Amino acid sequence: MSRSRELLSHLIAFDTTSRESNLDLIRFVHDYLAEAGVSCELIYNETRSKANLFATLGPDDRPGIVLSGHTDVVPVDGQPWTVEPFALTERDGRLYGRGSADMKGFIACVLALVPQLIEAPLRMPVHIALSYDEEVGCLGVHSLLAELQKRTHTPLLCIIGEPTELKPVLGHKGKLAMRCDVHGAACHSAYAPQGVNAIEYATQLISELCRIGADLRTPEQQDARFTPPFSTVQTGVILGGQALNIVPADCRFDFEVRALPTHDPREVAAQLARFAEHAVLPRMQAVNASSSIRFTELSSYPALATDARSEAAQLISQLCGSNDFSTVAFGTEGGLFDAIGIATVVCGPGSMEQGHKPDEFVSIEQLAACDAMLERLVLHLRL
Ligand SMILES: [Zn+2]
Repeated sequence: MSRSRELLSHLIAFDTTSRESNLDLIRFVHDYLAEAGVSCELIYNETRSKANLFATLGPDDRPGIVLSGHTDVVPVDGQPWTVEPFALTERDGRLYGRGSADMKGFIACVLALVPQLIEAPLRMPVHIALSYDEEVGCLGVHSLLAELQKRTHTPLLCIIGEPTELKPVLGHKGKLAMRCDVHGAACHSAYAPQGVNAIEYATQLISELCRIGADLRTPEQQDARFTPPFSTVQTGVILGGQALNIVPADCRFDFEVRALPTHDPREVAAQLARFAEHAVLPRMQAVNASSSIRFTELSSYPALATDARSEAAQLISQLCGSNDFSTVAFGTEGGLFDAIGIATVVCGPGSMEQGHKPDEFVSIEQLAACDAMLERLVLHLRL
């Protein structure tokens, strides 16, 4: 059995669904690294229930390369799994388990590489960066990035091992997730005009969002590297009302903007806020002065658009043996690394076709190919 596969079976066995602590997994990695003589830094959340991990192998007095992965996984609740999700099952050349593709497979390959990284010796450092709470909006990695920024030598580049079937990926859209709370005034529905119907005003805001979204599709705003080739806006959750005979005082809806790298998703939120302030709120307050519309940002991450001529792109194409660069539809922490000046690419084993689904798997072939890719990285970095 390959080392990466053995490590993957350990990693999958930790239930690191984002709502759970990831500390058992982090301790496992900490101890694994300590046994190899590698120290690491743990960056905890406020309640110390979760942690990021950062380790450096090789000389620490110069910029290096970050191998990055998130430790959390999405829930399995309600999904029809035919295998145990938190145990590795091998079937027909595939390794099944929650996180096998997204993205414990990559982390296993990185950890399996540790003995070679120690032996090399390396002419520049390799950093292992593991985060928490990626799946709930790239929340955990921020404190890790803050630590990185304090270092004398900012890493040169970063490889995010999200599943791309080991194809080199240079970009994805950015995302902004927002919540809108519309507060009106309740009354008996027989006297409806005396109340401020929060649901009805919320639908005006949602309609405006649809209109803004439609405006983003003009050919001159499109970028064919992405699917779909324009920024998108959508409302995904709405809550409001108690009974049909009560004018609802409250309505809440959540919406998101998935934006091309050239587009700031906050412009959409600002446009909606202006519409709310000028076109909706005055009419609500004319009936009841305490009416309000409040916007809250739930999460966001920037787009990634790494230049194909950059050193990061050249290195990943060399490691993958392909310069057929592409983009992915899903988001990663890559835009956040890029935003602090670390050129970032996305490349990892498995496919997002399997990510987040029941019976998630990574093929043994992909895992071995990732081992081989990372071994080429060691060759490249050897003194
Ligand atoms: Zn992921």
